[in-house]
Amino acid sequence: MTTPIAPQADRAYFAAFLDLRGKPAVVVGGGPVAAQKAETLLRSGAKLTVVAPELCARLAELTLVGALRHEAKRFQPGDLVGAEIVIAATDDPSANESVSNAAKALRIPVNVADNAALSSFIMPSLIDRPPLQIAISTAGASPVLARKLRGMIEALVPFAFGRLAALAARFRAHSKRRFPDPEARRRFWEDAIDGPVGEMVLSGREEQAALSLQQSLSSGESTEVPRGMVYLVGGGPGNPDLLTLRALHVMQRADVVLYDHLVAPAIVDLARRDAARVYVGKQSDNHALKQDEINALMVRLAKEGKRVLRLKGGDPFIFGRGGEEIESLAAEGIAFEVVPGITAASGAAAYAGIPLTHRDHAHSCVFVTGHLKDGSLNLNWDALAHPKQTVVIYMGVRGVPQLCAELVAHGLPPATPAALVEKATLPKQRVVTGTLESLPALAEREHVRPPALVIVGEVVRLKDKLGWYRPRALGAAQPAAEETPR
Ligand code: SAH
Repeated sequence: MTTPIAPQADRAYFAAFLDLRGKPAVVVGGGPVAAQKAETLLRSGAKLTVVAPELCARLAELTLVGALRHEAKRFQPGDLVGAEIVIAATDDPSANESVSNAAKALRIPVNVADNAALSSFIMPSLIDRPPLQIAISTAGASPVLARKLRGMIEALVPFAFGRLAALAARFRAHSKRRFPDPEARRRFWEDAIDGPVGEMVLSGREEQAALSLQQSLSSGESTEVPRGMVYLVGGGPGNPDLLTLRALHVMQRADVVLYDHLVAPAIVDLARRDAARVYVGKQSDNHALKQDEINALMVRLAKEGKRVLRLKGGDPFIFGRGGEEIESLAAEGIAFEVVPGITAASGAAAYAGIPLTHRDHAHSCVFVTGHLKDGSLNLNWDALAHPKQTVVIYMGVRGVPQLCAELVAHGLPPATPAALVEKATLPKQRVVTGTLESLPALAEREHVRPPALVIVGEVVRLKDKLGWYRPRALGAAQPAAEETPR
């Protein structure tokens, strides 16, 4: 089923890269800002005319060396005839406006420096690793943020990535002949870029890399039989910033994504854009697919040669049935990798300001499931009811009354601090704190809903001092229940 696509209010610009090689372009203005725009256009290979009564030193120099043509005059609408792109960067607002009007009348894309309202396109902040380009736009919301982001990406992306792209371009035609099937070709390139070839380029051995590419493209060795594989990935507690780099990396290589109810859409969105997405469910009582159906599906897809991303909430090996899922893969001889994720307990602890262990308050921490079976909770209460131990209960919202009663019945003081952390790490996170005695009523009163964790132990008291995450500071009101045991 397809859903209609409505324009998003906060994403009104269409991102594109223009081929301006040999195309007539006009810059109106002769100052340093105009010079900067002129250089950007020249770098893209445009045939540039600068219209301005006078030129700054840089533009004069560019004119002198024949890089551009100078029309020494005031702007007139006729100057734009034949141009394919126009940039206005004069210090006269009315001149800028008439350039904008003239360009719009002729349907020529126009940018007015620092004036989005007069522009039909804006220019992104650019990270240049020719031929690789990374463009950033905040739609004019915050040039400072764009600059900051640019700094971050500049630091992150090695210059050699551009050389790697150039190398790929050199062998593109050859690879098309060698692997007419786009899928096989994509795999070939992924293996090359992620493997020794990429490594060689990054360490400056480009000729060796070229030789290696040449050899693998000419050799009869077939890489056309795709080998399927399953990545069992922990997606963390919900906040996309808490994914591991490895998770992000494999997500971007997946062919098919099988995801659970608990995985936030923002995280599923990070998977490779054309990967198929399959919701396999597993809300506690509402399974879209049964566990053995999920296992069988993974086996079938991997046998078809697909790279299967099995995306789970939190960590796959903590109440995630990860063990069961890969057992069936192991039995079928299918390759797999397990990528750990931040488990809900870690996420909730960090974002609620409740350390799970503490030299003064908790020397151990146990994770248990509070999932009710036939309305009752069957746990080793004697082992849980210990002083100086933190107990974290997953899937425990419905069982809170039994849980608190049992812990008290087995020896914990009724005044033991206890918390419920709902939607931990997400903008809608809520923390409700009380004691073993008061928590059941608080949970009821505050309508706490899954996903939520129960945390029991003295460490809960630290929340007032250590809580730092205030997702509701902007806009919505603080939750009513922020009661802390005294
Ligand atoms: N493998 C997961 C746990 C799956 S069990 C992990 O490692 O986190 C599902 C339970 O996890 C939920 O019932 C809830 O108790 C807890 N949980 C998952 N995400 C949560 C979140 N963002 N906030 C609070 N609890 C969460």
